[in-house]
Amino acid sequence: MKREELNREAIVALDKRHVWHPYTAMETYIQATNPLVVVGAEGAYLTDADGRRYLDANSSWWVSTLGHRHPRLVKALVEQVGVLGHVSLAGITHAPAARLASELVALAPGAGQEALPAGERLSRVFYVDNGSTAVEVAIKMAAQYWAQNGRPRRTRFITLSGAFHGETVGATSVGGMPEFREVFGPLLFDVVHVPSPAEEGGWERAFAEVERALKASPDEVAGVILEPVVQGAAGMQVYAPAFVRAVREATRAVDTFLIADEVFTGLGRAGARFACELAGVVPDLLCLAKALSGGLLPFAATLATERVFSGFLGGRERALYYGHSYCGNPLGAAVAREVLAVYRDEDVLGQVARKAPRVKAAFEAMAERVPGVVRPRAQGMVGAVDLGGGGYLSGKGWRVYEAALKRGLYLRPLGDTVYIAPPLNIPEATLEELLHGVEESLREASAG
Ligand code: PMP
Repeated sequence: MKREELNREAIVALDKRHVWHPYTAMETYIQATNPLVVVGAEGAYLTDADGRRYLDANSSWWVSTLGHRHPRLVKALVEQVGVLGHVSLAGITHAPAARLASELVALAPGAGQEALPAGERLSRVFYVDNGSTAVEVAIKMAAQYWAQNGRPRRTRFITLSGAFHGETVGATSVGGMPEFREVFGPLLFDVVHVPSPAEEGGWERAFAEVERALKASPDEVAGVILEPVVQGAAGMQVYAPAFVRAVREATRAVDTFLIADEVFTGLGRAGARFACELAGVVPDLLCLAKALSGGLLPFAATLATERVFSGFLGGRERALYYGHSYCGNPLGAAVAREVLAVYRDEDVLGQVARKAPRVKAAFEAMAERVPGVVRPRAQGMVGAVDLGGGGYLSGKGWRVYEAALKRGLYLRPLGDTVYIAPPLNIPEATLEELLHGVEESLREASAG
């Protein structure tokens, strides 16, 4: 492609006139931001319109777990688009959706456990198109299940402070970050918030609150929803898997649902294929997105147990009235199948196990060596530190962002949290470069 066709200034001018960016103070953006104009991406790198390369430290909002444009994913996409681009799932099915569903249930938490009763197996796959809708449909499945299976008062969800479950109104309702909720307060439904298990004082305090809420109104709780082991958007807050296990037992004790939002943690990010497996837990509903289509296109799924699914059998009035235009999109399904095949063939989970200790050690060292850098934490291929004080909307993280950009590193913060969530298959030498760059950027920002 010729450089003229990619004229940076022209793109930025059009963008600033017409594009409304997510999570962005648009006035400042239009007046003062010099955006990266990305013209290509490969592996762990983005390339801008001036030909500069940037290491993508967060896998483009956590989706490109196999790096950008993995050749096998691109090939699978191109082959599929040559045959069938899209068709609805209304009275229709197709091989990519059917085969992917069978492959997903074969890999789901609990799949290998002989002793697991049939009803508790994650044996059904509902296709959606992003993480928010994966959560949205899980909420509706839980609510409708109880409505038509003898527990109509079960409409309340228990959720954690610091939870992030997506952008739609239902997913926002079960979220636990004030920054995302406050403005929409009157539109959101009521939930029970318990403290985050990642808060100081340990997970036991949070669990005591979950138990109390469950015992106080077992007839009203439709389910507990959580991001297992890592609360991502809240700033990579890592907590003990024992909490997830305890919640599973408590929900079983009153026979209500556990919804695991593995939109971020699913497919290796947290060090196991599913973070639920770190806790030895099988949820009733499991939400999967991001890594599922390797960052190539929007595609997601919610897995349900046979028991949940059975609650929708019977007449037409018992059906789940929910579905998106792009449910089970063949392109997404074909790519997702290839994602699973690449994980197997390239031993991606083994790679994570080998690299994770290095990420942990490096972040611990940063907190020791760089003044003002605190709370190192890591889980799988996530590493994070805080800059101390200020909160989500403070500007501290952005100083690190600017320092990193100069070094060819794209390192978007979450408030005062500076973190990495690189492609899981990032080569070891590139990972070292990344860790070094993070430390240097922290050092420059802390000195300035
Ligand atoms: N759940 C979790 C745990 C997430 O991290 C996110 C996205 N950051 C979502 C849901 C929403 O996913 P999406 O942006 O694909 O709608």
